[in-house]
Amino acid sequence: MAILLGAIADDSTGATDVANTLVKEGMRAVQTIGVPDGDIDLGDAEAVVVALKSRTAPVDEAVDASRAALAWLRGLGPRQFFFKYCSTFDSTPAGNIGPVADALLADLDADFTFLCPAFPDNGRVVRDGLIYVNGELLENSSMKDHPLTPMRDSRVVELMRVQTNREIGLIKQATVSEGPAAIATAVDALRRDGVAYGVIDTAGNEDLRAIGAAAADHALVTGGSGAAMGLPANFRTAGLLGDLTPATLPQVSGRAAVLAGSCSRATRQQIAMAQKDWPHRKIDVHRIAAGDPVVADILDWAAAQDTSTPVLIYGSADPDEVAVIQAQYGVTEAGEMVEGVIGEVAAGLVAQGVRRVVVAGGETAGAVVSALSVKALRIGPEIDTGVPWTETLGTETLGGPPIALALKSGNFGGEDFFAKALRMHP
Ligand code: ADP
Repeated sequence: MAILLGAIADDSTGATDVANTLVKEGMRAVQTIGVPDGDIDLGDAEAVVVALKSRTAPVDEAVDASRAALAWLRGLGPRQFFFKYCSTFDSTPAGNIGPVADALLADLDADFTFLCPAFPDNGRVVRDGLIYVNGELLENSSMKDHPLTPMRDSRVVELMRVQTNREIGLIKQATVSEGPAAIATAVDALRRDGVAYGVIDTAGNEDLRAIGAAAADHALVTGGSGAAMGLPANFRTAGLLGDLTPATLPQVSGRAAVLAGSCSRATRQQIAMAQKDWPHRKIDVHRIAAGDPVVADILDWAAAQDTSTPVLIYGSADPDEVAVIQAQYGVTEAGEMVEGVIGEVAAGLVAQGVRRVVVAGGETAGAVVSALSVKALRIGPEIDTGVPWTETLGTETLGGPPIALALKSGNFGGEDFFAKALRMHP
């Protein structure tokens, strides 16, 4: 059976986030880690999301990977495509949102797509083309200090303008509030003016559903995970999608670990809370740089802990500490050092019998799934907004056990997210 929706996400937590949105709207969803290199059993998936690690990759690599994902998804026969990026438009002046969207539009021979980063359930809305995070302009939010993609402008049109040569327009809230027909009329007008990208104001979920309805015949929709919210209804209206059935938890039990590489405010608060209850270790970047056996030390320490209690291992540090480390080792190098260690630690912990793993950080999650040779994930029920439990698919064929994974984008989740996730899946 052909799938209905094929999505490409620029990082792995983003992929999980959009898959989670589709699951909540009643689609069965599988996330693949990169473009599968061989046969893969997608089961009865109605939506497939390819998770790339392209957000901060060199532009050419990001474009090539996205085009390869599109080509592979096309083979599954979907009716529509989705390009998922962060609701805080995480990118640099070089890209990669603009160059990737340009390439996808060209390959699909399409002339228009929405730019809809909003995710109101997580406090991110777009008003007059400006992104707000929990009521604060993006440029004033903690995203201004992101280690890899510091966001110092809140204007989506301007953020995009330096990333593409195509025309960009804005569809304002007054039109969005009028509903799908008004939005479609605005799109027609933009198209006539040669505009390829329609930044669209979004205040709430009702708007996302209206935008989804207006995008029913768009080959490509782009945005945060919220932009996918209204799409399953189109398939249901067309008689292609059945009634809503709830997703089930992964059928996995075993020891638990929390691995955090995100330096976001939310993750640092979550770490502070979990530290009160669980044994924890911080990864020392200077020791990694000095070539010390950091991974072996952490694994020895973890093996000595009570197996009935989760272990917490983190690289996360506050912006001042991160700035010092980045100045000393370089932004990319410091990030890769921590990601590398967390990946190896994840593999070592699984070898010790860990079967439930919570990961904080988009890039960090990418490093973990790669270290665990995860090929695909079946999306289960949601823990906190945007973050579901997932179950690895196909690791058994590589000699590994199925693992329950919760991949959390840095800024997502309430303060007790780690405990909440593990309470849900004891
Ligand atoms: P988020 O989802 O918050 O963006 P990511 O994992 O995507 O989190 O990005 C955080 C980056 O910060 C990763 O590359 C991670 O390796 C890096 N990092 C983690 N701890 C430190 C640290 N102490 N110093 C410098 N960089 C760090």
